[in-house]
Amino acid sequence: EAKRRGRNQFHVFNDDLNAHLQMKRDVERDLADALARRQLEVWFQPIIQHDGRTLDGFEALLRWRHPRHGAIAPPDLIEIAALAGLSEELLRFIIGETGAMIAFLQASGRPDLRVSMNISPREMERISVDELVTEMLKSRQLPARMLEIEITEETALDLQAASQSLVALAMQGVSIAIDDFGVGYSSLGFLRQMRVSRVKIDRSFVTGLTEQTENQALVAAVLQLSGSFGFQVVAEGVESEDDLRTLQALQCHAMQGFYFSRPMPADQARRMVSALAQV
Ligand code: C2E
Ligand code: MG
Ligand code: MG
Ligand code: MG
Repeated sequence: EAKRRGRNQFHVFNDDLNAHLQMKRDVERDLADALARRQLEVWFQPIIQHDGRTLDGFEALLRWRHPRHGAIAPPDLIEIAALAGLSEELLRFIIGETGAMIAFLQASGRPDLRVSMNISPREMERISVDELVTEMLKSRQLPARMLEIEITEETALDLQAASQSLVALAMQGVSIAIDDFGVGYSSLGFLRQMRVSRVKIDRSFVTGLTEQTENQALVAAVLQLSGSFGFQVVAEGVESEDDLRTLQALQCHAMQGFYFSRPMPADQARRMVSALAQV
């Protein structure tokens, strides 16, 4: 009986795996087409300052709804693009959409706002990210300080080439943020070496932190370091007023999460900025 169940479970797993592989193949096949037809989107989630009201900027987040497989998680999409040899094309698209948003903010009289985009370790390794970014900023005549690059901690540690590209960007004035801080291989040495502008604390430490004194201690420790190291701290995954209040009490610099807003399409983010200007 146990044996049969075991075999059935294996079948279930196998079916899941097959479905997953099928999904990947379909998506890989359709991605080039989707890129060409501009069916992918970049959405934007507001980042809010310490006061819990003032807009600080946006994070750009990739979105693609596959006609048959539905919404594809961005990390899967990045991986599939690499398999399909489309990494650079996809990154160009994301940089383009991010640049368009920055251009809109500047034209709206909000050069104080910043737009952050994510770059994965793999992308950093394969693509001349600094060249693509520099080219975009130059052609659109945008100030580098309106752009932020978010990288996870592994990127920082593993890849020599990546950190060269990051240093080149930082020297131009592009802001560098460490994403998902606390879940990767934390390296305080890296924070010191790199000119990191911001550290984004992973939401696993943030959501519900009012009840979790250890998580509060972690946030407090990072905030304490930020003073001497000269970076700012952004808390991700703020989902409740309690989260907000506790982060404010800890003097967290900025916050992001469903409590304030979910990611939204670019036109909606633009309307939001325009509405702020009319107040
Ligand atoms: P991330 O960079 O840490 O982005 C934050 C993720 O948390 C986003 O998920 C966002 O929708 C979600 N989020 C924001 N606030 C909350 C909250 O209060 N509660 C919860 N539960 N979630 C929240 P998303 O868009 O699915 O992206 C997942 C990850 O995929 C990102 O994590 C990032 O690592 C990666 N990613 C997204 N877009 C891109 C992209 O354009 N390029 C690359 N390389 N990676 C991307
Ligand atoms: Mg991010
Ligand atoms: Mg994150
Ligand atoms: Mg993440």
